[in-house]
Amino acid sequence: MEMVRHLSEKGISDRRVLDAMAEVPRHLFLETMLDYMAYEDRALPIKCGQTISQPSTVAFQSELLDADPAMKVLEVGTGSGYQTAVLCAMGLKVFTIERQKELYDITKPRLERLHYRPKCFLGDGYKGLPEYGPFDRIIITCGAPEVPKDLLDQLKVGGVMVIPVGGQQQEMLRIVKTGDGPDDTLRQRYGDCNFVPMLEKLDYGGK
Ligand code: SAH
Repeated sequence: MEMVRHLSEKGISDRRVLDAMAEVPRHLFLETMLDYMAYEDRALPIKCGQTISQPSTVAFQSELLDADPAMKVLEVGTGSGYQTAVLCAMGLKVFTIERQKELYDITKPRLERLHYRPKCFLGDGYKGLPEYGPFDRIIITCGAPEVPKDLLDQLKVGGVMVIPVGGQQQEMLRIVKTGDGPDDTLRQRYGDCNFVPMLEKLDYGGK
């Protein structure tokens, strides 16, 4: 498939990621009037002023996770559900949180229709899902002003968090949790990126 070839050319080499992205039909995660652009390497608008991440960004974050099948993964920012579906197709046990009800209400049944089986939650990604943790991996798909402490607490020792940190523009960080203390982390930097912001205030009312 053209898109997967493009991802390989851009340096994605993790077979688990490439196979998953070859399998997930991205056009089914878009508004129908935009679906003809589904396999171009670009972010596109979804409802509520949000965006579905660019395929190369989804691939890059998924590769940085370095996750083995059956690992427990928390995703913050379900959005269209595309990244969620890719994680499911990689054989992971996926828990995903979205703060906007309008998106949650569209995406949860969409994933069910397509036979992906993540656990979807409407809630605040800053708080995570303490009752379902700890997680082997955590992936944040919106730009966080800083690394949320609650999320770090929900990561297993030895676990990995992939998170864009910053304001307007963010830096992609891969954080390895090396121990239980607040400073027991190893931070690896993977360059600038542009995500919609991770928002604090819950907005259950849609727009
Ligand atoms: N992975 C998604 C990306 C969607 S954009 C996709 O590929 O479609 C980021 C999403 O993060 C948006 O849907 C936005 O509503 C959500 N978001 C922003 N702040 C959040 C928070 N504090 N908790 C949970 N989700 C949040």
